Amino acid sequence: MKFGIIKDYINGMWVEQSAIRQMDVFNPSTGEIIAKINITPQSQVEEAIDAASKAFEIWGKTPLSTRVGYLFKLHTELKNRKEDLAQAIATDQAKHINDARGEVDRAIQLTETACGLPMMMQGNKFSITENVMGEVIKEPVGVVGALSPFNFPALVFGWFVPFAIGCGNTLVYKASELSPVFMQKIAEILDDIKLPPGVFNLINGDGAVGDTLLANPNVHAMAFVGSTKIGSIVADLSAKTGKKSMVLAGAKNTAIVLDDVNMDGFIDNIINACYGAAGQRCMATANIAIVESVYEKAKERFIEASRNVKIGDACDENVYMGPLISQAALERAHYYIDLAISEGGKLILDGRNPKMSEKNKGGYFIAPTIIEGVTATMRLAKEEVFALVVALIKIKNIDEGIAIINDSIYGNGGTVYTEGGANAHRFVTETNSGMIGVNIGVPASMPYLPFGGTKASLLGSQAKAQGRDAVEFFTKNKAITSRFYGYGK
Ligand code: NAD
Repeated sequence: MKFGIIKDYINGMWVEQSAIRQMDVFNPSTGEIIAKINITPQSQVEEAIDAASKAFEIWGKTPLSTRVGYLFKLHTELKNRKEDLAQAIATDQAKHINDARGEVDRAIQLTETACGLPMMMQGNKFSITENVMGEVIKEPVGVVGALSPFNFPALVFGWFVPFAIGCGNTLVYKASELSPVFMQKIAEILDDIKLPPGVFNLINGDGAVGDTLLANPNVHAMAFVGSTKIGSIVADLSAKTGKKSMVLAGAKNTAIVLDDVNMDGFIDNIINACYGAAGQRCMATANIAIVESVYEKAKERFIEASRNVKIGDACDENVYMGPLISQAALERAHYYIDLAISEGGKLILDGRNPKMSEKNKGGYFIAPTIIEGVTATMRLAKEEVFALVVALIKIKNIDEGIAIINDSIYGNGGTVYTEGGANAHRFVTETNSGMIGVNIGVPASMPYLPFGGTKASLLGSQAKAQGRDAVEFFTKNKAITSRFYGYGK
């Protein structure tokens, strides 16, 4: 599948800028070039912001029921075009086609949730004294800039677009330069459902394009999902230019396994938690900390199940998982494996340089890789690798496991595998991550619950995605106090 030139969509029109700077888009399963991005020049980013500012004057005052009407149409089209959207993700992001379908389903659920905005956007009114009323109403923020990561084009679309435009904002959205095709298809849908021009604008390119968006004072809020390194820049620049910011950033998640674990359930669940989406989820389990009494058994079962994970072309229904996103990501995975070995870790399952079919020889593949003898202070245990490289850490008890999670600079997820209520309760209460699982390796919250971490996983204004938290971010509260002298006379 090839996609030609990736275009901008500005003020209701497709814009194919002559290439001042161009980038290639690869299919990570094969290494072949499948599209080219004409990087949006600075002047065109400004044009998109101007279009969004103009559109906001009308869209912000458009009745909520009309805005939600567009979300219903968007929802219908997402469902109609689900397979095409999933195939796009399986091609340029090389997320396995089954995972890609699941991701599109989540975007559909998020759009459904945003259709409930008339309930979620209600403010409140109360009597202060007999003739004085207090009121809080929710108003849109204005022009929102959005920066998306490569690994969840549909999920992040679902976090930002339905909620932002439903709340009455207009958007300038930069897709990831590594996986831009899904958002091309979203712009096609928004064009087809005749969303008014300027409400949604799409720009493309690398970090420099994002910087132009950040620097512009007419952008009132920034919604970002990506690494902690770039997230820190986004949070700092947003604060300097007076923008509200939602900054969901990097992660390093640990699952702890206690002696009363249900071993079959654990194995069944942990494989997807570690290797689903090729380990490139912000909620992926990367460290497994196991108590000594069940360590050997859990390790053997985990190795055996990991060996059975079949890798291959992300569009192939018969494999479990595709490649990493890029050659750079593959090199980073290899770097961390070497580093862990040099720090005393033992490679007990080596997934490097797997044998691939002729078609997939140029892809960025690594098979499940497991390193044991890792300690909480080693870099492999602390830093985000974002691949199928799993560290096994032997712990004495639950205290050591909780300490690994609480001492991490990140705080996105954390899971305990136990059948014991007291241990589960203790884990839930004492860990300081944003999303906690009990026998659930990827405790990613449902679309109507808050999604977000703590510490270096959530920066900026500390705003979280989804449900009412998203509404809080994409609106501002206005308090009104009124008195009527004639009351009661
Ligand atoms: P990234 O930080 O490299 O890029 C994210 C976006 O920022 C891209 O659109 C990129 O073009 C843009 N960008 C890059 N440099 C910029 C700059 N200087 N100024 C403005 N924008 C800039 O992230 P990635 O590699 O695409 O995504 C993977 C990361 O995202 C991982 O760290 C993962 O944990 C994180 N992530 C977090 C969550 C979460 O909910 N916390 C969800 C998904 C992904």
